[in-house]
Amino acid sequence: MKKVKNIAVLTSGGDAPGMNAAIRAVVRTGIYHKLNVFGVMYGYRGMIQDDIVPMDSKSVANIIQRGGTILKTARSKEFFTPEGRKKAYENLKKRGVDGLVVIGGDGSFKGAHVFSQEFGIPCIGLPGTIDKDISGTDFTIGFDTAANTAISAIDKIRDTADAHDRLFIVEVMGRDAGYIALYSGLATGAEHIMVPERPSDIENIVAALQDNERRKKLVNIIVVAEGCPHGSATEMAEVVRREIPSFDTRVCILGHIQRGGSPSCMDRIIASRLGYAAVKALLEGKYQSHMAGVINNEVRYTPFEQAIKTTEQIGEEWFGLYRILAS
Ligand code: ATP
Repeated sequence: MKKVKNIAVLTSGGDAPGMNAAIRAVVRTGIYHKLNVFGVMYGYRGMIQDDIVPMDSKSVANIIQRGGTILKTARSKEFFTPEGRKKAYENLKKRGVDGLVVIGGDGSFKGAHVFSQEFGIPCIGLPGTIDKDISGTDFTIGFDTAANTAISAIDKIRDTADAHDRLFIVEVMGRDAGYIALYSGLATGAEHIMVPERPSDIENIVAALQDNERRKKLVNIIVVAEGCPHGSATEMAEVVRREIPSFDTRVCILGHIQRGGSPSCMDRIIASRLGYAAVKALLEGKYQSHMAGVINNEVRYTPFEQAIKTTEQIGEEWFGLYRILAS
């Protein structure tokens, strides 16, 4: 088995709080094991454009608490092409890079998988996405912070909803995955939660709101994930205004505040554990083309193919739970 000597780390796709903590863990673990560590700027785009810098221990000082990513992130169309990936490979080769750590979402893992197969470079992925839409890990780096940001915003919205007897429809991030909506909705006592994975019966929601009105329960919060097939928060508000004009209905779209900010304790810890685990796997020559994740509080490695193929379904019991607690 060839001993790994030079490794590179990059962040790719959407940014997520905790990416910096993961970069720090990769760099410091690599340096501890006497590896040369390179940082690739702007994800795969920087790999193709040769935007690659050596990293030392100091280069990752004072970043564990910072959101965003010091390596920047980007999406690269060129990396979808064999020619683009060949250029990227040549830039790694000239530095003798023999192991790569990719911090990103499922798209980034698809890229890492094909790259690893084409050029035989061991790639370890770390799940860095606020959406928690990857299998093979209980949590992704950034999800906990994003959910907490949503929670703190919805708590504030509930104060004003309560003061004015209003219905608020709050839209949170999640194009394909509803975990931010589910967790933030459950944790703030939302009356209804709408997620992309599960069709919501709008008629039932309207009927439940009418029932609330009869019971003089005028303060209601509906949390909607942006990717809901039955429409955005604005569209949902139109339905409610039409069906229950007596309700004072407002919409709040939380937007990009959910991506930024200082990572939570949990995200810093997961990122640190997984960054360490990625370098360990490269050193041991194990798990080429795998993602490192945390399952039942233990580090586990899952082949990229599996991590990106299966999307976890939200079990029915989650919905029974919030309905009972919010009734
Ligand atoms: P997020 O979950 O935040 O969207 P992501 O990693 O899924 O993050 P994508 O935009 O899907 O983000 O992918 C990031 C980059 O990975 C793409 O811009 C592209 O360069 C590369 N990539 C994605 N899919 C493939 C693929 N099938 N083949 C090669 N490269 C890919």
